[in-house]
Amino acid sequence: MSPASGTVPETAGRRTVAAVGVMYVVLAAGWASVRTTGGEPSLNVLIVTTLIVGPGLVLLYGAYLLPALDIDPDFYTVIGQWCLGAIVVMLAILSLYHFQPADSFRNPHRSFLMFTALSSVAGLGVGLYDARARTRALEVDQRNRELRRVHALLEESNDRLEQFASAASHDLQEPLRMITRYLTLVEQRYADALDEDGREFVAFAIDGANRLQEMTDGLLEYSRVEADSGSFDRIDLDDVFEDALANLHVRIEERDAEVTSDPLPTVDGDPRQLRQVFQNLVSNAITYCGDDPPRIHVSADQRGREWVVSVRDWGIGIDPDDQGRIFDVFQRLHSREEHPGTGIGLALCQRIVEHHGGQIWVDSVPGEGSTFSVSLPAVDG
Ligand code: ADP
Repeated sequence: MSPASGTVPETAGRRTVAAVGVMYVVLAAGWASVRTTGGEPSLNVLIVTTLIVGPGLVLLYGAYLLPALDIDPDFYTVIGQWCLGAIVVMLAILSLYHFQPADSFRNPHRSFLMFTALSSVAGLGVGLYDARARTRALEVDQRNRELRRVHALLEESNDRLEQFASAASHDLQEPLRMITRYLTLVEQRYADALDEDGREFVAFAIDGANRLQEMTDGLLEYSRVEADSGSFDRIDLDDVFEDALANLHVRIEERDAEVTSDPLPTVDGDPRQLRQVFQNLVSNAITYCGDDPPRIHVSADQRGREWVVSVRDWGIGIDPDDQGRIFDVFQRLHSREEHPGTGIGLALCQRIVEHHGGQIWVDSVPGEGSTFSVSLPAVDG
């Protein structure tokens, strides 16, 4: 798993376990032959030999099995140390016990062999447990390091993309302004020199340049959501919503829109950006209202550790197949002739909401209306 540390500890740890196993098998055989020739009842010899040889075989099997277990080879030494440690501890306990005056400890050799053999198996068990826990910890650590590395790479690439989009849209503004200015001059000064077609072509060109201007403005704003955001303040969304409505009041009056709202929560955020979110959502609800005057209701609902603020309309709705892509940059479901727009409003909302630690989504039934919901972290107190 971590080859940098080499193979020495791995084979050394496994060999220790195997060597202890072989030792007990050999000692059990020696014990059996000495006792049998010494005239001890064979049942006694068999029981004791089994109690010594058994742990020896368990250790040998354990050493054989180790590579098949989900344990990092670097931690085999830990298992070997636990086996040896258990033997030493048992030896110490038995040595103390041996110094007792009572004669209950009549055959120290036998007990030493038996109990240390058994304790070495206990050591193997604890060692396996310990090595497995260390392996898990190492894996978690490696995964965390990998995640941190990927996170840093993503942030770096995100920063570069932001810089690129920001620089591109910023640098495009100047030549674009020149195109618009000179086309407008041509339209104003040389309109008489042009025929009907010529005037129409110039008007198309001005319209295209204006659209391009709107799109680069939107892209610039989109790419600068994080850079432009100040530190978050505790803000009352009622106030933010009021500001958004104030900015939209001409459109609201023109379209005779009815906008109602429930009390909204207090959250941490950038008031200018959250006002922009409300403004885009309410503005869309007015634009895509269908034939009837727009009706819009804003509500808030606390769900666990977050608030979900929803902007509901009873407009044209959105086909389920299109609901995912409307949050992508420049994605529109209608032509400019049907409804003017750049297709960046919802993408901008999504970026702002994500910058605030939330999410945005839509529930909609074509012909019945749409509910755009925004989740934002709830604040304490
Ligand atoms: P724009 O409105 O400039 O086209 P948006 O990103 O705000 O850009 O919206 C993307 C598309 O999502 C719109 O073109 C429209 O088709 C659809 N849409 C947005 N809001 C609504 C709504 N409230 N009802 C129906 N469709 C909507």
